[in-house]
Amino acid sequence: MRKTSAPTIVVAGAGLTGLSAAIAAREAGARVVLLEKGSRGDVGGNAAFSGGLFLFCYDGPDDLTSITEDFEPGMKADRIEAPPYTREAYAAELLAMSGGQADSHLVNALAERSLDTVRWLAAKGVRFTFNRTLGAEVCDGVLRFPPGQVLTCTGEGMSRGFEVIRPLLAHAERIGVEIRWSTPLADVLRSEGQLTGVAVGDGSETVPAGAVVIATGGFQGNRELRREHLGPQWETVRLRGTRLATGEGIQAALRAGADKAGTWSSCHSAAVDPTMPSPGSSEASPPFPLHGFWLGVLINRDGERFVDESPGPWVKNYSKMGKAIMRQPGCEAFEIFDQRTAAQVADEFAGAAVPTIAHTIPELAKRIGVPADRLAHTLETYNSACPSGNGIADDHGTTGMTPPKSRWALPLDRPPFVAYHAIAGLTFSFGGIRIDPNGRALGVDGAPVTGLYAAGEAIGGLFYGDYPGGAALMRAAVFGRAAGHTAATETKPTPHAA
Ligand SMILES: Cc1cc2nc3c(=O)[nH]c(=O)nc-3n(C[C@H](O)[C@H](O)[C@H](O)COP(=O)(O)OP(=O)(O)OC[C@H]3O[C@@H](n4cnc5c(N)ncnc54)[C@H](O)[C@@H]3O)c2cc1C
Repeated sequence: MRKTSAPTIVVAGAGLTGLSAAIAAREAGARVVLLEKGSRGDVGGNAAFSGGLFLFCYDGPDDLTSITEDFEPGMKADRIEAPPYTREAYAAELLAMSGGQADSHLVNALAERSLDTVRWLAAKGVRFTFNRTLGAEVCDGVLRFPPGQVLTCTGEGMSRGFEVIRPLLAHAERIGVEIRWSTPLADVLRSEGQLTGVAVGDGSETVPAGAVVIATGGFQGNRELRREHLGPQWETVRLRGTRLATGEGIQAALRAGADKAGTWSSCHSAAVDPTMPSPGSSEASPPFPLHGFWLGVLINRDGERFVDESPGPWVKNYSKMGKAIMRQPGCEAFEIFDQRTAAQVADEFAGAAVPTIAHTIPELAKRIGVPADRLAHTLETYNSACPSGNGIADDHGTTGMTPPKSRWALPLDRPPFVAYHAIAGLTFSFGGIRIDPNGRALGVDGAPVTGLYAAGEAIGGLFYGDYPGGAALMRAAVFGRAAGHTAATETKPTPHAA
């Protein structure tokens, strides 16, 4: 006689996507085996290095304090002014930043489920706090936020995202997810159109399963795939996060019949401090992001400006600065400031990066190794294109200059002058597996590939040229949760001999 037991779901990757998928599948009644390529010290993937910022929809202060009240009891709704960030606004922003290319089904699902998923994470022990750095202001005892990036998880410094992972890992272990460290997924196994399990390690060991969720991240850690898809200059790029996202999960899914989605030739990449290496284990610090570019100008080693440093708030533009730097001679740049903004940059946007400081532009040029006449000409052109006036204002743009600086255009004329050396840091690749909003991997014919699911950075179709900060952690949790739940509810129980 044959009996049945709960379906076995294999989830590959113990980042935010994989942990969300594993927990959701387990809560839906499945037996869950979570495979992680790294050791326990590598848990968390990119989230462990992240700033912990989540972009989600809310109707107003009550939605926010219902999430933070346990951790910030003093922050009552009447002390907060937070105009709604609606689903429509979220979806419109994602679509606009992708140049209209993002898959509207995924966009709408992300916006629609974002608040509920933040609550789901909070219920599992993830602690959220108000982000007081992204345009928040205190006025008459009231904390005012512009709509959008309002909450981050609690924790210190740039790697506060580890605090998203810690409670989820503990929760997953508590509810009985079986975690196998140092066990990379090598391939997806199929027989007669059905998924039968996965091969792990060197491929000689198998783990039987009724469904697999690919949550192995992007391919940014793979030198050959970077060269093939992003271009030769990306071969030796500095990574901002996990070194273990090398694309095997994506490739296994494509071999199993999944289709590609999104742009494979683009990525999320920020300006970073070149003195810091790519991080090793998830407790290491990532290269510090030099997000202060909007307070000064960016120049290349020829002394020329090459990008609009401030087309909007930096949190909606920093992800393309690395790509702009990568296109410059020597794949390097310098962020230049004067004494109007140097202190703010040092306090908020430079970490331990050591600037070059000089009293004159020719002296600065000599010290950073750019042609003095070119730099002087560039800064004179910039200064004369800035509007007159002394205040720092977001609506001040340059006139008659290419490329323009659309906002925060203040002349650089108060010595000493300050330069930070910057290179591109690669955060994650944009191309991946095609999925539907419930996390089912789709084949080239648009139909689900039986038993195959995917989410997070392993998928394509949401982010293209640009990206709003906070949408990647949100994507990981929303679609990881969806993929795990769908896999568990669609997979038949496993038959076994009584
Ligand atoms: C420095 C930095 C700051 C960031 N800040 C933010 C932020 O503030 N807000 C935001 O929204 N986003 C941010 N992000 C992006 C965000 O962290 C990621 O998009 C998100 O965490 C991706 O999660 P993931 O689980 O899909 O992929 P990953 O985090 O890459 O996880 C994949 C996991 O799979 C494992 N793995 C790889 N291959 C295999 C295999 N073959 N078998 C088994 N396991 C495998 C990896 O070891 C890893 O643990 C940041 C990223 C970085 C690097």
